[in-house]
Amino acid sequence: MPYTPDWEALQADAVATLSRYVQFDTTNPPGNELPAAEWLRDELVRRGIVQEVALYEPAPGRGLLLARIPGSEPLKPLILNHHIDVVAADPGQWTHPPFGGVVADGFVWGRGTLDTKCLGVIFMLALQELLEEGVTFRRPVIFLAVPDEETGGRQGMRWLVERHLADLDPAWVWDEGGGGIRGIFGEGVFFGIAVVERQIQHLRLTATGTPGHGSMPHADNACVTLLRALERILSSPRPMRLNEVTKEMFRALGRGQTFPRSLVRFLAHPLFLRLAGRRLAADKWLNAMLRDTVSLTVLRAGYKVNVIPERAEAEIDCRLLPDTDAAEFHRWLRGRIADERVRVEVMESSPPSGVSPRDSAFYRAVVRAVERHVPGSTVFPLLMTGATDGRYFRQRDYPAYGFGPIVLEPEDISRTHGIDERISFANLVLGIRIAREVIRELCVGEAGGSG
Ligand SMILES: [Zn+2]
Repeated sequence: MPYTPDWEALQADAVATLSRYVQFDTTNPPGNELPAAEWLRDELVRRGIVQEVALYEPAPGRGLLLARIPGSEPLKPLILNHHIDVVAADPGQWTHPPFGGVVADGFVWGRGTLDTKCLGVIFMLALQELLEEGVTFRRPVIFLAVPDEETGGRQGMRWLVERHLADLDPAWVWDEGGGGIRGIFGEGVFFGIAVVERQIQHLRLTATGTPGHGSMPHADNACVTLLRALERILSSPRPMRLNEVTKEMFRALGRGQTFPRSLVRFLAHPLFLRLAGRRLAADKWLNAMLRDTVSLTVLRAGYKVNVIPERAEAEIDCRLLPDTDAAEFHRWLRGRIADERVRVEVMESSPPSGVSPRDSAFYRAVVRAVERHVPGSTVFPLLMTGATDGRYFRQRDYPAYGFGPIVLEPEDISRTHGIDERISFANLVLGIRIAREVIRELCVGEAGGSG
């Protein structure tokens, strides 16, 4: 008789496990992920998924867990990654306490239920289910749970990759990022698999000038110098541009839609892009997909109303398309500033990264599993407008894919990093079903190859 999982029991287990996981307050900063990582280790062992788990502490209180299921063949491992830390939550605004792990109305509520503790629970239960079925893994699987994603990964994934990449040497990395969405592009369900991200350039602009009394304005006021430079930068957006990923994405989004939504497929055409550019840019998500962007996020200057200060500072969050040359961007920026009194300093930058291939065994396995479990849905490659830990692998030419195996409604999206974050029972089960099949195809069955 073919093996069939007890889906009802699995759902109850997933709900209870995620509820417990959410109750670890891993707000970053400070993160304090170690207790949650220790709990995960105990869960993995208790469930018979692994015998030994490595627990690192990249900084005091920060737990990083690495568990390896050995494979019977000398193949590169599949990494299943999620991050333990979460962003802050103001309990006063929430229906249920953000770290209460409340289960109500068919949902698990709490900070991290979507971003990304759900992914950890989905991976863990999918692995357990396969092992209970009695399969043997021909390819090793690495279950990773990292701290510090939300503030850039310096004490998390970056720490790990800089020290242990040679031991990891993955065939593919499955991380957070894309996923399924219903009700934005018409009736259907659309699944984005993130294959590339924009580059980060976090810059500080410092203007210096001549201090003086506020009663006597003069032409060398640092505040004014900075203000005018910023105005020149922000009033001239960078050109819109398509790349292979966004072209394919817009083509997929336009398929199977009725007029006028079907027009979106023409976005892949440069002429249409030029004609429709201004209207597209009004949508902040499309705008971020199509060009390098600059956000003014921090301003610092002055201390007294009647004193002209000698310096003024601004921080800008610049995100560059994957194929933008960062040196060219800096030349453009200097050209816009056009003032010797303004200094530009790089606070943080990410090197350009490759695009994870769309013809890999991993990508194909995800497409097949999605088509089987959500029939009629459309899958497309996604350019991430923000950053995830996946970039640390892509920068080193390891394929990493951002994919949440769940389907969200538009209103769910604002709950991530927002108020009343929650995940439905149905999504937890869907996630386990999809993950189980993808892992099976890549690490158990005949198909797979090394990528
Ligand atoms: Zn996240």
